[in-house]
Amino acid sequence: MNRLIKNCTAIMTGRRDEPRSPATDIRIENGIITEMGILVARPGEAVTDARGCVAYPGWVNTHHHLFQSLLKGEPQGLNQSLSAWLASTPYRFRGAFEEDTFRIAARIGLVELVRSGCTTVADHHYLYWPDMPFDGAAILFDEAEKLGVRFVLCRGGATQTRGLEQDLPTALRPEKFDSWMQDVERLTGQYHQPQADAMRRVVMAPTTTLHSTTPQELRDSARLARALGIRLHSHLSETVDYLDAARAKFGMTPLQFCAEQEWIGEDVWFAHLVKLLPEEIALLGAAGSGIAHCPQSNARLGSGIADLVSLEQAGVKISIGVDGAASNEAADMQSETHAAWQLQRARKGMLAQPHYAGGQFEGGGDAATIEDVIRWGTSGGAEILGLATGELRPGMAADIAVYQLDDPRYFGLHDMAIGPVACGGRAKLKAILCQGRMIVDNDAIPGMDCAELGQQAAEAVKRLQHRAGVR
Ligand SMILES: [Zn+2]
Repeated sequence: MNRLIKNCTAIMTGRRDEPRSPATDIRIENGIITEMGILVARPGEAVTDARGCVAYPGWVNTHHHLFQSLLKGEPQGLNQSLSAWLASTPYRFRGAFEEDTFRIAARIGLVELVRSGCTTVADHHYLYWPDMPFDGAAILFDEAEKLGVRFVLCRGGATQTRGLEQDLPTALRPEKFDSWMQDVERLTGQYHQPQADAMRRVVMAPTTTLHSTTPQELRDSARLARALGIRLHSHLSETVDYLDAARAKFGMTPLQFCAEQEWIGEDVWFAHLVKLLPEEIALLGAAGSGIAHCPQSNARLGSGIADLVSLEQAGVKISIGVDGAASNEAADMQSETHAAWQLQRARKGMLAQPHYAGGQFEGGGDAATIEDVIRWGTSGGAEILGLATGELRPGMAADIAVYQLDDPRYFGLHDMAIGPVACGGRAKLKAILCQGRMIVDNDAIPGMDCAELGQQAAEAVKRLQHRAGVR
């Protein structure tokens, strides 16, 4: 349906060259933005009255683990750093997932994201074991399609485990490399759409580059990905443990190791990149690789905060991901971008020194603007994924979030345009469009009963606890 979004108080474009549009109205025809300006409704055109609203591009979330949506605030891992937390929470529970609980988890995470203005979701899905009884990828694509969002399946997996394989329960055993790669080929054939306005994509995504496979397998996975025309994604350098492990196992830095296995380039993006040496930042920038910056998860696990300013200056593409909800109890893009804005400033402020000790600046108030954060969370992610979304301008896919700023938290703002990021919390949504289709209308997802989902979630948490032997 063709639509006119009319009378926006402000429009943030996600663009670098013109982050704010002087337009008040956006015309959408056949899923594409065709005109922006002061426009008059045409006969037969649906009109969304956006008075008191600000429009942003739909957020592009570039790193998540949707299955973790039922593992929020899990007590054993709540106060642990990454390695201990991995053992306590996601790894302890992952074998407990069944088809039902997995589907409910995926639905919760996707609904949370949509309700934060997100229209593109890349999920790093690594819940795999040999002969597993359900097809997680099919469930993820199905749930995303029901909500009407773009979905990028980053097909995780591992051929190695740090435990003793023969002693592990079936649901924790690693896959064989050949069957894993065959599944990537199957998924690519079945779901992957190469075009720029794709609703479905597949990505090669070993769970970690350092620990999941042998170096030869890692190289082979990169070669297969490029032969299939799909992108590459993994976790990297989330904590100092990556530096220790890469030195102990391979005698080099984590990035050097990836580069040696051909896991670097414009088609590669890594989640986290918190602990990088200067030469690693230069290497990533020269290769044109990208980062999925996950500030809330990095803060929650106490890993640190990635240096986006240096990364962007070096030429690294920047995007934002919420990461799994087992290390981020609010996996939504509004709180994530709010955190990104504040934590870049806090990070720089921590480096400030007094003048008498050679300091050059007082604090980090200039480390990230709202416009920077919006660009990272929209067009930055779209560029990394190779999708024609994330910007509000004619010719782009009509993925648009229209926030209605009628909550007292926005009263008194001198610049309404910054409200959805600067004020924190969740803004009410007048509408969200994805490829021109209305997927949220007056703050509701058509057909979605959130109270019922809450009940299903509570029951699913009990089932998971029982199956994991917690209670
Ligand atoms: Zn992750």
